[in-house]
Parts: sequence; structure tokens; C-alpha cells
Amino acid sequence: MVLACNELKGSMLNRSNANEIMMCLNSFMTIKCIAFDLDNTLWAVNPVIAKAESSFYEWLKSYYPKITQKYSGEALVQHRMDYMYAKPEMHHNLTDLRKSWMRALADEIGYDHDYVEPGFDVFWSARNDVTFYDGALEMLEKLSKKYSLGVITNGNADVNKIGVGHLFDFSLSSEAAGVSKPHKDIFHKAMELSDHDFHQTVYVGDDPERDIIGAQQVGMKAIWYNPTLMPWPGGQTPTAVIQHHHQLEDKIVNL
Ligand SMILES: [Mg+2]
Repeated sequence: MVLACNELKGSMLNRSNANEIMMCLNSFMTIKCIAFDLDNTLWAVNPVIAKAESSFYEWLKSYYPKITQKYSGEALVQHRMDYMYAKPEMHHNLTDLRKSWMRALADEIGYDHDYVEPGFDVFWSARNDVTFYDGALEMLEKLSKKYSLGVITNGNADVNKIGVGHLFDFSLSSEAAGVSKPHKDIFHKAMELSDHDFHQTVYVGDDPERDIIGAQQVGMKAIWYNPTLMPWPGGQTPTAVIQHHHQLEDKIVNL
């Protein structure tokens, strides 16, 4: 596209048509696509995970009581976390990691593995029962009419399961990408799903390293969602910062 613009620019220079040259350049500079992080950017993740763990525990209590007789809810979460910390090579795929832990738990207690898929579905349904931050859903609905929207997430929330998939043109998880943010490959793979390139895309997220520095290293602009006004921890600073979702559109227009 840059080559096409240069050719157009050259022909227009001959006609001394400065306005059209600027329009051409602007068409490549203007943001066309907004890609979002999900957890702690569009909703708070801790409450929804706590609710999902509780739903899973209640389900175990009804159908696999030997597990809940041995472990309290809190102890079972710690059991899972200990397992997950020992498997860093699986951290990009939280679905497989949780199912792997469930199989290990079944082996320990003496159940077979048949409970893994229905048990995971209980957790996952509750994990996608999110409560959007005030104004976040309205912001997405409004921006989806003007921009191409996308998702790049390290988690296993699913905008289609949540019921807002129609607002997004693409969604890529670390599970599908094979690597987690801030790895460059997840951003490159996301752009393969998008109709736009890095320079036309802005990424919005709450995590300085995974979201902001990750996106900027591949040439995206990046807006830091920082509702609690945390100090920037260092490294390349964000393109812009917002405290509230309603500020996002103005920031993007002025990039
Ligand atoms: Mg996040």
C-alpha cells in the first residue's frame, strides 16, 4: 500500500495537487481498526473467575463429592494454581491447562476422566458470564459502527460465548496463536485475520508490558486503559492513556 501511495503521490506531484496527496497519506495514517484486550480492559476478571470457580465447586459437590470432601473451595483453587505454576509451557493455553489439571485431580482422587469436558463447561460458562465495566459495552457498540473491531487475548473468554461476537471482525486467543502477549507472533497472526495493517490499528489494553509494549513493538499504536491512574512502570510510553471508556473515541480520532 505504501508503494501504491508513493506512485500516486508521484503522479499527483506532477499535477501539484497537494490536497489529494495529503488525503492519500492520511488514508494510510488514520486508524481503521481497534483491537482490544478483554480481561481487566472490558470487565474485571477476578470476580468472574471467582464466580466460575464457585460454580465448578458446587457442581463437583453434586456429582464428584470425593473431591469436595478432600478439598475446600479455597484449597482446590490453590491445588489448581500449584499445578499451573509448575506448567509454564502451557500458560498460553489456559483451557488445556485446566483440563490437564482436572485429569490429574481425577487420578489423585480415583475418578475416571469422563468428568473433564462437562466439568470444564460448567467453569467456562460461568467464566464467560462477565459484567462489562460501566460504559464499555456502549463504547463497543458505538465504535463498531465506525471501525473494524478485534480481540487479542491471553485468556479463554470468548466474545461469541459472551454474546457480543457480532461487534468484532476478528478474535484471536493465545490458545489459537500458540503464544501469549507480549510475543510478537500473536500480534502478527491477529493482523492476518484483519483487513487492516499495523499502522492502521490501535490496541487497547490494561497491561503495560503484555498489551502496550507488546503492541508497540510490532508497530501498532497502543492506548493504556488505566482506570486507577497507576504510574507508568517504565519502558516505551503508551501512545495515549484513558481512565474511562467514554474517552477512547476522542483519543483515537486525535492519534
Ligand atoms: Mg487485561
